Amino acid sequence: MKTIGLIGGMSWESTQTYYRLINQKVRQQLGGLHSAKLVLYSVDFSEIEALQRQGDWEGTAKILLAAAQSVKSAGADFLVICTNTMHKIAPQMEQATAMPLLHIADATAKALLNDGITSVGLLGTRFTMEQAFYREKLEQQGITVIIPDDNERSVVHRIIYDELCQGIITPESKTSYLDVVASLAARGAQAVILGCTEIGLLIQSSDTQVALYDTTEIHADQAVALALNLTSRP
Ligand code: GLU
Repeated sequence: MKTIGLIGGMSWESTQTYYRLINQKVRQQLGGLHSAKLVLYSVDFSEIEALQRQGDWEGTAKILLAAAQSVKSAGADFLVICTNTMHKIAPQMEQATAMPLLHIADATAKALLNDGITSVGLLGTRFTMEQAFYREKLEQQGITVIIPDDNERSVVHRIIYDELCQGIITPESKTSYLDVVASLAARGAQAVILGCTEIGLLIQSSDTQVALYDTTEIHADQAVALALNLTSRP
């Protein structure tokens, strides 16, 4: 079994989901007392969020690169960045560490294409919804990406930082998210990507008829497949 290198804490609310899912999936595969070999470096999200807001992505890269070097020294075989947004700096991370990185958008594209989905709505932070780094990964693989309108993006973004990353789950926010999911479906999305690792804490597949692709689940699933040599990198 390979050792998974998790860069987490963005926020820790979703990192604990990664930790649980990865261990559950290893147990499903290997049974008994088996659990995942992993190294976790968990950052202080307040520092990362301030740099994101200032547009200082170089500053975020410094912190995450130091974290990646730590997990590498501790024996990790490949990197898993436990947030969609911070994949903005994934190319630098991969290059500077010379470590393989399981990209969350590649993992998600693979899951979508396996199910024959080629038109998808995207929920996430403003950075993920509006900037090219994430959307282009999907588009390069022939997937059309529909993003919420400006008002909806503000609501989705605000709820992530003010609530979900702080462990706050409310029925009002759940309704707001489900409204956005419905409007993306009405605009032609065959499915909706939960492209922020905390969104699965708020809405689940049982809440809507629209197919949801939870990036935390998909990423954890493919990390385990890679660690157990059940698959190569997407
Ligand atoms: N966990 C979130 C994501 O998947 C947002 C936190 C962050 O900005 O990294 O994008």
